[in-house]
Amino acid sequence: MPAPPSPRAAGRYAPSPSGDLHLGNLRTAILAWVLARRSGRAFHLRIEDLDRVREGSEQRQLEDLEALGLDWDGEVVRQSERGAAYDEAISQLLTRDQVFECYCTRREILEAPSAPHAPPGAYPGTCRDLTPAQREAGRARMRELRREPALRLRAGVAEWTVRDLWAGEVTGAVDDLVLRRGDGVVAYNLAVVVDDAAAGVDQVARADDLLSSAPRQAYLAHLLGRAEPEYAHVPLAVNADGARLAKRDGAVTLRDRLERGESAADVVGRIGESLGLSGCRTAADVLERWDPAFLPREPWVVQLPA
Ligand code: GLU
Repeated sequence: MPAPPSPRAAGRYAPSPSGDLHLGNLRTAILAWVLARRSGRAFHLRIEDLDRVREGSEQRQLEDLEALGLDWDGEVVRQSERGAAYDEAISQLLTRDQVFECYCTRREILEAPSAPHAPPGAYPGTCRDLTPAQREAGRARMRELRREPALRLRAGVAEWTVRDLWAGEVTGAVDDLVLRRGDGVVAYNLAVVVDDAAAGVDQVARADDLLSSAPRQAYLAHLLGRAEPEYAHVPLAVNADGARLAKRDGAVTLRDRLERGESAADVVGRIGESLGLSGCRTAADVLERWDPAFLPREPWVVQLPA
């Protein structure tokens, strides 16, 4: 096994506790664990519970990951307990004038004419360079709406390049992304960067619906003086119609499969087969046998007996 890149280098899995993990989530978790372990990295679990929390979901997710044979180092981190670290990162950016208050509603952003070449949905820059009087008016309006202004990053670049294990060099758009939302909740893009850096995560394996967010996250890491991680974005799991796998697709969670008489080993077996390996029974079998060069690059079409 190759030597660890540095003593604290780590991979991680970071589920949102919004319900039970489905087969696609479990596959991504196994791959993140395998990639970390085969390179001698630590592996951390982080619960992304700033939003969309379902009671009891965290505990069930941890039990399911254990049932597949995953283990992790140190305490499980919860984003809901990391407010001080996020505040500190925002202050660091504030002192360098890299943050501005934004008084726009979601609708105003959608309806504003976007800058030439800006990707759809990109922030049009409305509040970036307001005069002090305009800011006062914006704050007064927020008080009427009983909202706080959102805090946005004053991005100094329009795009940034990251390295992905499978996708190679990926250049993507960076806009004036939200750091703290109008409801006071820290934005996912900031939390993920601060948490990964604090845990020594230098390898971010996750589903590829987040590949387009990687450049802005890496840029934010750069601004905060944190090391930019290497990425490993895993294709999504989809149903027979090619749509992203979801609970409504039937018995797609570990617990659903157990209720239908399968074992955790059978579920790992299915995940192994999606990687071209037959006969895997536990995550350790995947660790031993899977070569990351052989990750199918298409979405995993999940077909299950009813
Ligand atoms: N919490 C996110 C999710 O469950 C993953 C974020 C990440 O891995 O960076 O989709």
